Order: sequence, then C-alpha cells, then structure tokens
Amino acid sequence: MSVGKGTIEQAAKLRAELQRHDRLYYIESRTEISDAEYDELFRRLKELEQRHPELVTPDSPTQRVGAPLAEGQGFARVRHEVPMLSIDSLFTVEEVREFEEKLRRFLKTPEGEPFDWAVEPKFDGVSIALFYEHGHFVRGVTRGDGEVGEDVTANLRTVRNLPLVLAAKPRKPPALLEVRGEVLMRRAAFQRFNQQRAERGEPVLANPRNATSGAVRRNDPAEVKRYPLEFQAWAVTQVEGARFDTHAESVQALSDWGIPTSELGRIVRGLEAALAFHDELEPQRFTIPYDVDGIVAKLDDLALRERLGTTSRSTRWQYAHKFAAVEATSTLRAIEVMVGTFGRLTPRAHVDPVEVGGVTVRHTTLHNADHVAKLGLALGDRVFLERAGDVIPQVMGVAKPAEGEEPADWRATLPAELFDDAKGDAVKEGAAKEGAAKEGAAKESDEKESDEKEKTATKVPRPGVQCRWRERFVVPEHCPACGTPTLASGKYWLCPNGLGCTPQLVGRTQLLCGRGAFEIERLGEKLILQLVQHGMVQTPADVFHLEPAKLIELERWGEKSVENLVRELAERRAAPFERYLVALAIPEVGPATARLLARHFATLAELAAADEERLLRVEGIGPEMARSITAWFVAPQHQALMKRLADGGVTIVYPDRSLRATGRLAGKTVVFTGTLAKLSRAEAKRLAEGLGAQVTSSVSQNTDFVVAGADAGSKRKKALELGLTVLDEAQFLELARGAS
Ligand SMILES: [Zn+2]
Repeated sequence: MSVGKGTIEQAAKLRAELQRHDRLYYIESRTEISDAEYDELFRRLKELEQRHPELVTPDSPTQRVGAPLAEGQGFARVRHEVPMLSIDSLFTVEEVREFEEKLRRFLKTPEGEPFDWAVEPKFDGVSIALFYEHGHFVRGVTRGDGEVGEDVTANLRTVRNLPLVLAAKPRKPPALLEVRGEVLMRRAAFQRFNQQRAERGEPVLANPRNATSGAVRRNDPAEVKRYPLEFQAWAVTQVEGARFDTHAESVQALSDWGIPTSELGRIVRGLEAALAFHDELEPQRFTIPYDVDGIVAKLDDLALRERLGTTSRSTRWQYAHKFAAVEATSTLRAIEVMVGTFGRLTPRAHVDPVEVGGVTVRHTTLHNADHVAKLGLALGDRVFLERAGDVIPQVMGVAKPAEGEEPADWRATLPAELFDDAKGDAVKEGAAKEGAAKEGAAKESDEKESDEKEKTATKVPRPGVQCRWRERFVVPEHCPACGTPTLASGKYWLCPNGLGCTPQLVGRTQLLCGRGAFEIERLGEKLILQLVQHGMVQTPADVFHLEPAKLIELERWGEKSVENLVRELAERRAAPFERYLVALAIPEVGPATARLLARHFATLAELAAADEERLLRVEGIGPEMARSITAWFVAPQHQALMKRLADGGVTIVYPDRSLRATGRLAGKTVVFTGTLAKLSRAEAKRLAEGLGAQVTSSVSQNTDFVVAGADAGSKRKKALELGLTVLDEAQFLELARGAS
C-alpha cells in the first residue's frame, strides 16, 4: 500500500504538535491541552504509524516509550571505555589556588601565562553517558561505580529534550559520539510533579536529585516518561569523524547537533576569572531553575588535558568549586505559636543559630500542626535544615532524637529572645510580650547582678512558647496574644478575635498603611505597634484620627516627624477605589483581586451589597473568594471600620465611568468562550472593556452577547439555549470597530 501525500503530512503534523506540547509541559511548565486531548493526538499518530510503518521516524514521540523490563530482569551492565571519574571537590579559594599551582608545576607553565578555563554550573543531577552512531541515539549508561554502569537506554529515550536523532545541519553528525552530562529536573517541575503525586495519594519525593535517580533506574519506560526529566551535556568524551582542539569547539558542535548544553557556561581567562564566576553564580543559585551545588572549571585546551592525564581516582584538568552547604543540622530549642494578620496560628521552630546555604537561621516556620506531627519533632531533637530555592531554610526531619533526662544546661541554652521583651524581631506579638514582661518583672529586680544565662534559667518565656525538654507540640487552646479560645479551620487553627487581638490589629493596620493601599510610608510595623500599645490605634482606621498633641508625647516622636506624618495622612486621604479595597484587608483580596472588583462595581455600596452569585459573575473570582468577600462586608466590626475611615476624612476616588456610559458597548455584558484566532483572551477583554462593556465568565439571562472562538463548548450551547446573540471573532471585531 502506498502512502498518500496527505497522510505523510498528517503524520508529520501530529509529530510536530506532540513535540510542541511536550516542550510546553516539561520545559516551560504549562499546558494548552488536557491530558485526554494529548493522549488522543498520541493515539492518532500511533494508529497512522501502525497502518503505515514506513511513516515511523526515529524521532517520533511514539518511539520514546519502549517495553518494560521483564520480571526479575535487571539492567545490562556496561563497562565504560573511558572511566567516569569523579571531579576533585574544592571548598576554599586557597584549595583552588593550590590546584592550579600543581597544574603549573606539572606543565611547567610560567606564572605570567594564564590558562583558559571553561566554567559552568555544577548541576546536582544524575551523571550519564550517551552514545550516538551516525547521528542516532543508540545507548545510555549510568555512571555506576565509574568503571561499570547500567544500560538505561530505554528510560533515557523518554527524556524529552534528549535528541533521538542529531541535527544534520549545519554540520554532519560524527560516526561515533560519546556525550556525558546530567539528567535532572527543574525545581518548579519537580514541585508540580510532587503535588500531582500527593493528589494521587502516592508518596512525595525528597528532592529533584533523588526523584531523578529513582526515575532513571525504574524498570518501565512508560512510568519514567511521567517524570519531567531533562538532559544537559557537559562533555564530549569520545568522537570519531570530527576533531576538536578546545572544549569550546566541542560545545559548539553539541549545540549544532541539537544536544542541550548549559547556557550559563563560558570560557574565561585566568584563575581569578574562574574564582569570580563562582562568586557570581553562588548568589544566583536559587534563581537558576535547577539545583546547582557549585561550579566546574576545566582547561579549555584539549592538548593540555592530554598532557595532564588522569590519576586513578580523578581527572587532573578540572575541579569543582562547591557552594556553601544548603543542608545543616541544629538543635530544636523551642516551638512558638505566631498569630498572623488574619488570625492564623503558625508554629515556628527556634534552633541554635546555624548557617545554611549562605544565611544564618535562628528560627523558621513549621507551617501547621499537621506538618510538625508529620516531621515527628520533639524539643531537644537534632534536626535537619535545608535551603531549597530562595526561601528561608526549612526543617526537613529529625537527625537524632533527644534522649534521656533533661540536660543540666537545657534552660540556659534556650534563645534569650524568647524571654526578653525588648529584643527579638517578632514585634507583632506585642501583647504577648507585654504579658511576659509583667510576669517576669518581680523576679527581674533581684536578678540585676546575675548574668543573662541565669536570667533565662529562671524567667518565664513569653506566651505561645513551648520549650520543655522532649515536649511535643500542641496547639494552644487559647490565643497566646489575646487569650481567646482558638478554633480549628481545615488544617489550621485560628484566633477568631480579629481586631481585638494585637498581632491581627497590627498586621491589618500595616496592610492599610502598606504598598498598594494608602501607602503611608512613615508608619512601619514598629510605630504601629507603639500606637496600638498606647491605645491610640484600636482599629486600622484610627490611623486617620491620630491627634498630633498626643503623638508628640510618645517616645521617638519629635515635632518634625509628627508634622510629616500629618502631612502624609492629608495627602493620602483620597484613595482610588482599588487601593481602598486593598486597605480593608479582606482575606483573599490582594491588589489583583481589588483591581477586578474596582472595575466591576461602580461603588463601594454596590460591592458591599453584592451576593456570592453576583461576585461569581466577575471573571477571576472563585467561590472561596466570593464567600470571603460577602462574609467580610456583613460583619458589624467591618462596617464600623468603613464608617470610621469615612469619619476620618477618607474619600474613595472612583475610576472614570464615562466610557461605561458612552462607549460603543456601554452597558453590555459580554462573555468570551473558546479560542480566538486574532486576539488573546486578555486583549479581547481589554478591547470590550475599553468600549464600556462588562466582561463576565458565565452565561446567564443578563448576558447581552457571547463571543465564541474555535472549540467553544458548553457556554456557546447555553447561550443558544437562552436565545442570546452569539458572535464569532470576526463579527465581534466588526462590532468593536464600529463597522455596523
Ligand atoms: Zn488572639
């Protein structure tokens, strides 16, 4: 049976389409189609290829998934022709200088002649050797013990960015090519993958490296395909039919053949530049999408490498200059309950100060009680801390549990900040600390002579702190800041006291004074706490009722600063609607949501009166948000807050509604559905709104017309059922341009 031109084109189109979706999903972490739609494309290609086997290309997505290993069958063992040796790991600048000194002595290169170094990030993945014959991927082998590895070819074929066939232009692939590099996962892709596992009830994986090394050695390629694996080459180890004089040339060739190499690599002249590359990359390590634990520097000149050769253990011509460790252990001294802006109680771990990945950690969040229980923490345990990504290091688990009786110095080693109300950064729990100070006051007077440690040994920690030897965390029955009984809410616990609870009052006042709200820059956290403690701020709106005569009596306030604040408040009293909404500190409503609301509701009164159904018609507002917003507006203390703002002279500036009244689509309610060809959804929305229309997400009797693009589904159907006008994209554009 001969294959028609149409069929050939169809197969090519399906292949290209699948490859594009693979790329979107695994490399750019987004999707345009559902899993079912992807499977359908895959099935159609497979069917075509089965009917016309001559259509199968070696790089077809269907060729990436092979058969699983038979029961009890292991991977074939393969001896490395060139051993995969380790790289000398160096930690200090002195060690790096010594390394180069040795090279100079060996090569008899004088001081004045700098070496060219090929420098690149050292990825924390799984090392692998790939073999290509005449441009076709034929074998992939793990490092193993460096001498003998395992043949994991079938698994590596599923790695999306690993070319099965090398590009033949601009240069011909060599007869034989061995490339070495790293199989790895992007942190973001790993997190998403882990989340999906958790949703399916599968165990979550510790980190991208462990997940990768597990995936590479699984015995079913179809399973491996689900992991977001990628490949990054770092060296050409063997080549027949091509010749390179420098590392840079070989990297260029890899890139010509379509093999991915690190974009961060480069050639630098002299050791100082190689050291500088390390210092430049280290602070970026958490913004690079992969885990990187140092840099690798190798001599660019391959003839020099040849002269240096290898030792039995490692190569002489390259070194790894490691970054500061991102893992550390420390002792868990206390767990303190923090009260957040919206009343959420969050346990926080206090540990002995320790450096992790370049930051010194004294305390870190433990998220919620479930998380603490899952980690199995008891006070006094030696715990693992790890820094992943650009966030505060987290407690990962117990390294060594606390045992036996309480050590004699346990109390003395507790962090002083848990006892001292003048220090510490946890300003928010001001009320809590005040309480602690009062309790401790009587003892304090007798203790003036004694040193800090003895003080700690006898004083009472501030409320919310649990610090007994081998104690396990329990959620307090009462809010540590205000004493109100706590409530469970999902996996969290709350203090329901709202503005009556100091940390919540301070947090919400901060939001009101903060970015995107009234932006009263002079009122930071510390000054707000001071005003709260002096009873001058009892609701966030009291900021607009401050009396200069009272302010000036406070510590740290001078005539000038009072004057400045009064002026700033006067300038800020008229606030755009969306900023006013941010200032209200409605849970779930940040600047983006506030903007949506301000655009869809003409006035505050209209918004306050809206029910959930009305809110849900605003595109971008989900059920949880709608519930949170309506609940907020009915609470008497919030109505009082808005009144107090108005009494303080605050006015709301509404956006210019003239377009709504006079635009070509004034007063119309429009719904977009399906995929538009000429406009993005956001553009279409902006266009309609610019003409005075209101764009909503669901079709109802109130909808004036529906604009349906390609693949429009249920919304289009519903519109037709309701007898609404349905326009296609061209008709909508005509309408927008005023052609009819
Ligand atoms: Zn409270």
